[in-house]
Amino acid sequence: MDTNLKGKVAVITGAAGVICSAMAKSLAAMGVKTALVDINAEAVEKLAQEIEKEFNVSSIGVAASVLDKESLQKAKKIINNMLGSVDYLINGAGGNSPLATSGVDQMVDSDLEDLDETFFGMKMEGFDKVFDLNFKGTILPTMVFAMDMIDKKSGSIVNVSSMNSFRPLTRIAAYSAAKAAVNNFTQWLAVHFSKMGVRVNAIAPGFLLTNQNRFLLTDEETGEPTARGVKIINNTPMERYGTPDELQGTLLYLLSDWSAFVTGVVIPVDGGFSAYSGV
Ligand code: NAD
Repeated sequence: MDTNLKGKVAVITGAAGVICSAMAKSLAAMGVKTALVDINAEAVEKLAQEIEKEFNVSSIGVAASVLDKESLQKAKKIINNMLGSVDYLINGAGGNSPLATSGVDQMVDSDLEDLDETFFGMKMEGFDKVFDLNFKGTILPTMVFAMDMIDKKSGSIVNVSSMNSFRPLTRIAAYSAAKAAVNNFTQWLAVHFSKMGVRVNAIAPGFLLTNQNRFLLTDEETGEPTARGVKIINNTPMERYGTPDELQGTLLYLLSDWSAFVTGVVIPVDGGFSAYSGV
């Protein structure tokens, strides 16, 4: 059993983000060569330099959009030339949009006078954006980068899901449904690739305070937690937000041969949120 990740090549999409930059660093600390793919070219180039300096292992920043197959194919050529064939893929690019977020948790009679904050005020443009980024943005990079793994009959793909994928969270209809689709696709692809030596799993992080959800969880002016933020903490048995570092053990487990017989699972890393009924 090969549990050593050293020398392997990992592609990480959304690598400039809070969660995936931490993933890139923990992989580099294990000696993994990292290809940091993001639309924010400047940020990933800078991160790659930092990683090379700190961990003394190859890292490159590559500009590409997970919604543009051609840009991903170009990225793959660069990655193959500079780092070698791809062993691991982490589909991390994802997120929500305020356009597909309702302003109220539950509709009540008084909302009938102004529907803007209810389901009826949500924009299809927002649904499209969120489904594209989270769902299509998982499928397209997999189509491009998994081929190397299929060729050598070895590899591991980790998708980044969310708590909202198991039971939807109020307000974020599109984001919840899109991450549920990611879970479903994770299982589908795990079965599809199961005889080809390529495993497909997902991590469902619990609540971390990041740029993507800050507008929902803290008051912009005062910095105090919103009512929603308080609810989250009260429903997380560990009574706190998680940190990106706390996802890393699960990531390393899913990539390495320690999980050689594990495929098609979605692992919650959530301080107990998904286990807790609130009572
Ligand atoms: P983030 O907003 O910090 O980072 C997202 C990154 O994706 C950014 O660097 C952005 O430039 C990049 N990106 C956006 N569109 C892209 C595209 N078309 N192509 C390539 N890159 C693109 O996000 P984060 O909070 O670190 O979240 C990372 C993943 O974790 C997402 O899939 C998110 O849905 C998921 N997640 C986050 C939380 C949380 O609490 N933050 C919880 C559960 C799941």
